[in-house]
Amino acid sequence: MMAASSALRAFQRRLLAWYRVHQRKLPWRETRDPYKILVSEVMLQQTQVDRVLPKYHEFLRRYPTIEELARARTTELRRVWYPLGYNIRPIRLRRIAQRALRDHGGQIPDSYDGLLAMDGVGRYTAGAVLSFAFEKDAPIVDTNVARLLLRYFGLKSQGSKGPLQRRLWQLAEAVIPTGKGYAINQAMMDFGAMVCTARAPRCPTCTLRKTCRSYPLTRNGHTTNYSRRTRRH
Ligand code: SF4
Repeated sequence: MMAASSALRAFQRRLLAWYRVHQRKLPWRETRDPYKILVSEVMLQQTQVDRVLPKYHEFLRRYPTIEELARARTTELRRVWYPLGYNIRPIRLRRIAQRALRDHGGQIPDSYDGLLAMDGVGRYTAGAVLSFAFEKDAPIVDTNVARLLLRYFGLKSQGSKGPLQRRLWQLAEAVIPTGKGYAINQAMMDFGAMVCTARAPRCPTCTLRKTCRSYPLTRNGHTTNYSRRTRRH
């Protein structure tokens, strides 16, 4: 672990304290049902939170269980999904539901191997389900988390993507305090969306500024802008 331990501890402590006060209220945070968490994560893969919110409720009203989604007709499924776009996503969700019924007794699996074997589930989505549904200390790296980690720990965003991605996943794992994967992951996502934003990071009032390697960033944050390099999948 390259990150200095004092900077790491400050990151964990301050971020969790910030999250206790400022966390966003989102419906998928009021459940630990792996099916609902998975639906929300697949919707969020390519779509902003405010557009996902009404559709999340509508989708779960129409398909409240894995069994009902597994039986869904394609026309109806696409109609319910509209206008979120990337229409392969509901089809993949249905395949996941069918596979869960076939191979896992109708349950969403609680292991990396089981999740990664599902159609369209990558490392991010597997980590999100393990962390947000099963409360395991599983790392996640999405756009917001990557930007925050890059800036706070002073990583260079240039260069080849593979080593940078590996470093980010290592860091995302290292910043999880034991037993607090759920909270720190949600905190990093909110902090990246609300404070350490791509274009206008709020460095002057940021709770992490004393130990942040990039403080102060210019207003557009261009020195370590990571807004387009990592997507959920
Ligand atoms: S000081 Fe600025 S760059 Fe560092 S974490 Fe805070 S908002 Fe992000």
